[in-house]
Amino acid sequence: KAKRYRDAIPKINNERERIVKLANDADAQMKAGQLGLAYSLGVFTSFVGDIFLRMLKGIVIPLVFTSMICGITSLGDIRRVGKIGIGTVAYYMLTTAVAVFIGILLVQMIQPGVGADDTFAYVSKNIEAKERSSAVDTLLAVFRGRPGEPGSGMFPENIFLAATETNVLALIVFALVFGGAVTTLGVRAQPVVDFFNVVNDAVMKIVHLIMYFAPVGIFGLVAANIAKEGGGREFLGQLSLLGFYVMTVIIALGIHSGFLFSLIVFVARRRPIQYTLGVLRALLTAVSTSSSSATLPITLECVEENNKVSNQAASFVLPLGATINMDGTALYEAVAVIFIAQSQGISLGGAELFIIFLTATLAAVGAAGIPQAGLVTMVIVLTAVDLPMAGIGTILAVDWFLDRLRTTVNVYGDATGAAVIDRLFVAGASTKS
Ligand code: ASP
Repeated sequence: KAKRYRDAIPKINNERERIVKLANDADAQMKAGQLGLAYSLGVFTSFVGDIFLRMLKGIVIPLVFTSMICGITSLGDIRRVGKIGIGTVAYYMLTTAVAVFIGILLVQMIQPGVGADDTFAYVSKNIEAKERSSAVDTLLAVFRGRPGEPGSGMFPENIFLAATETNVLALIVFALVFGGAVTTLGVRAQPVVDFFNVVNDAVMKIVHLIMYFAPVGIFGLVAANIAKEGGGREFLGQLSLLGFYVMTVIIALGIHSGFLFSLIVFVARRRPIQYTLGVLRALLTAVSTSSSSATLPITLECVEENNKVSNQAASFVLPLGATINMDGTALYEAVAVIFIAQSQGISLGGAELFIIFLTATLAAVGAAGIPQAGLVTMVIVLTAVDLPMAGIGTILAVDWFLDRLRTTVNVYGDATGAAVIDRLFVAGASTKS
């Protein structure tokens, strides 16, 4: 037996040499581009993924700026907006805040990202290490900015610097003030309003174009990540972790829908099931288009025709809501950002959670009612708590799906708002359904 083994050794050595030579040849050929199909595929997938991410980031500034200006100028003269205007904005901010609160509560309870360090290793490895400053500094920086950085904070010394630094929060504040000022200038300002409406439409078209690219882009980002760092086990690990994340978002959206349902009963004093069925077509359109703006005509029709909300309330509340009222998006952004922090083993303190609460509410206001706009404005929340933007890569794979769900909740929030404002502010409210 021992002899047989001894005899076999040279054969095994030969075989090993042959395999090593084959492998070296293949490697050389691959490098020479002869056998490089897999290699080129790898390069190509990460290439399309990167372009997709860059396009998303690139559209943030124009998107937020024009959509905010259009939202505020659609209110008419800011000084005469009156009770219904203030009531609507207050209602929207309040319900959005409740949504974010529910989101933060659930993601803190379920902790879908904790323990993710190993399985997420390959994503985290690609994320640039960043020095994290103290929570108080971060909180101050959000409002006042960082000393010696004129483009930072809510009130930057230089709005152009803020734009070049992708300081979106500063742009939102500026756009709100600028838009508000424009509305006080009367007919003289109409060309400016028209101008921004056209620019906004054009920017939305560009976002639509980018979204055509999304399936390929998302595929590229996910495939390149997996190819680079891990095999099937890691991928399954990631999926199961994202599964918990998806579940957290869905449960939180469900709870918030329950809250909206109760508003229909107790504040709008309507029959909630009937009211919800009345807007069912709008909700289904929201699921299928992932866009509250695209759904708006149907929401208007359902709310007025089926649910008999007065035109005065509906025609004011709904278009404004499609731009600034995004309960689902706000909730989603808070959950996503905390999930990203958890998956990187970063624990967030009270001050940071408060920053997330504020910025997620604002970021949702800044998000346009178009597919995956929430993903874009999430950059605001991420940077506010010093998390790297690349963290978005972690959750990109399931965003298209969650977008549909959060958009539905956005539209439900708008429709509920119409009933509430109708009841509270419009005298002689129409027949209750
Ligand atoms: N797609 C959402 C909407 O249209 C916005 C978002 O991306 O969250 O309401």
